Amino acid sequence: MTNLQTNTVDDLRGKFRGTILVPDNHGYDAARRIWNGMFDRKPAIIARCIGTSDVIHAVNFAREHNLLISVKGGGHNSAGKAVCDDGMMIDLSLMRRVLVDKYSKTAKVDGGCLLGDVDYETQLHGLAVSAGIVSHTGVGGLTLGGGFGWISRKYGFTIDNLISVEMVTADGKQLTVSAEENSDLFWGIRGGGGNFGIVTSFMVRCAAIGTEVFSGMLIKKFEDAREYIRFHRDYVRKLPDEMTVWLVVRHAPPLPFLQTNVHGKMVVAVPFVWLGEQDKGEELIKPLREVTESHGEAIGMNPWVAWQSVFDGLAEHGARNYWKSHHLKGLSDDCIDTIIEFAEKMPTDECEVFIPHMEGAPSRIPESDTAFAHRKTPFVLNIHTRWQNISDDDKCLAWAREFHSATEAFAQGVYVNFLSDEGETRVKDAYTEEVWQRLVQVKNRYDPNNIFKMNQNIKPS
Ligand SMILES: Cc1cc2nc3c(=O)[nH]c(=O)nc-3n(C[C@H](O)[C@H](O)[C@H](O)COP(=O)(O)OP(=O)(O)OC[C@H]3O[C@@H](n4cnc5c(N)ncnc54)[C@H](O)[C@@H]3O)c2cc1C
Repeated sequence: MTNLQTNTVDDLRGKFRGTILVPDNHGYDAARRIWNGMFDRKPAIIARCIGTSDVIHAVNFAREHNLLISVKGGGHNSAGKAVCDDGMMIDLSLMRRVLVDKYSKTAKVDGGCLLGDVDYETQLHGLAVSAGIVSHTGVGGLTLGGGFGWISRKYGFTIDNLISVEMVTADGKQLTVSAEENSDLFWGIRGGGGNFGIVTSFMVRCAAIGTEVFSGMLIKKFEDAREYIRFHRDYVRKLPDEMTVWLVVRHAPPLPFLQTNVHGKMVVAVPFVWLGEQDKGEELIKPLREVTESHGEAIGMNPWVAWQSVFDGLAEHGARNYWKSHHLKGLSDDCIDTIIEFAEKMPTDECEVFIPHMEGAPSRIPESDTAFAHRKTPFVLNIHTRWQNISDDDKCLAWAREFHSATEAFAQGVYVNFLSDEGETRVKDAYTEEVWQRLVQVKNRYDPNNIFKMNQNIKPS
């Protein structure tokens, strides 16, 4: 173990109510694993916290022993920021309690919760939190970067529903952070990521969406991709906020509603969610059905919890992943042509081009209200490169990078949670200059020695 005496670690163990793991301990290898199989890092210590006092002990210990800290929420970050080599991984994954107050329609969500934990409890009351679309994503990282999903066009990003958080800062202090208390920090944690401390719980507003939503997926023919996407870019921008329609270009998974000869073929998947009466939803998707032929579709009233895990199987833990992303100013004809050109060269069957439509309630919130910049962006282009074998690394990385460069002319800005490890200049692209400068001031005040640096880092000045 790096320069740490066993008795020093035992001291920490003595104070700790969770588990302290070092490399030879049972459970160490499972605990250091994260979603992206590209990262095989080995922390000197894993501090598996079960409460705020554990988090404080862990932060103090790491600071006093000059250990690099990484914080694991759901461990989903594609840039692998949850795990470090040689330092201390502060693992929140045992902190997964969700307390719902059905009267005030709020939920207190522990810092290590997964999105599925939140749906599991809020749905008992027909409530949901506006967040992401894969149930095994962590609430922690997702929220601190912004957080969007199927209902955010109507209800705002996750940060737009954040009431307060409890957090532990670099000096081991516990703070309540809200619009009233430590308001500069409250501004910064809504988009600035894990730069300022460790959030042990989030208090969020829930939306009363009921337990079923009209939702589903049309699978369009790739031969018609150009025509379909040209239609899609204009049509979805006219839809009410209650309707969210996204685009995924990929090889068709073996979906039961598709004929077997379509499985594995390139297709354009069009998933949607409608928050309203089914009849009206049917009317709104009619043009999507009619514009070009579909290989098949599965549409109807779906339990929210089931819909929220519809994509889980395509994003299981352990595969090798490399994400490149940017916000698109629009989907011009040239941009669509470039997307199709690179889709045709997709290096593996697990890769996908993911294009969510973003406009709605979040774009009407003033940009200065939170640290999330580029709120008015219409579309995001996510290049999800995914494969199993190390021998495919070079071709997969090259495809993603070339695709990303080729679409740069159509792009402006990026969502911090979709960045890979791309350096400070690229992190800055997630913010405007004004927001960046303000984030640096918040960093100076709450983490002047940058002890929280395993993230999309904002260096103190
Ligand atoms: C399959 C998949 C689907 C996704 N879908 C969406 C989506 O629909 N919408 C969306 O907005 N994003 C989505 N994302 C991106 C997601 O928001 C980020 O990957 C996010 O970082 C995940 O958070 P996490 O807690 O799981 O990650 P981790 O890897 O655990 O953490 C990510 C970063 O946040 C920090 N962090 C985590 N928890 C805390 C905490 N409690 N306190 C302080 N810092 C913390 C970590 O230190 C690290 O720097 C998706 C990602 C994947 C891989």
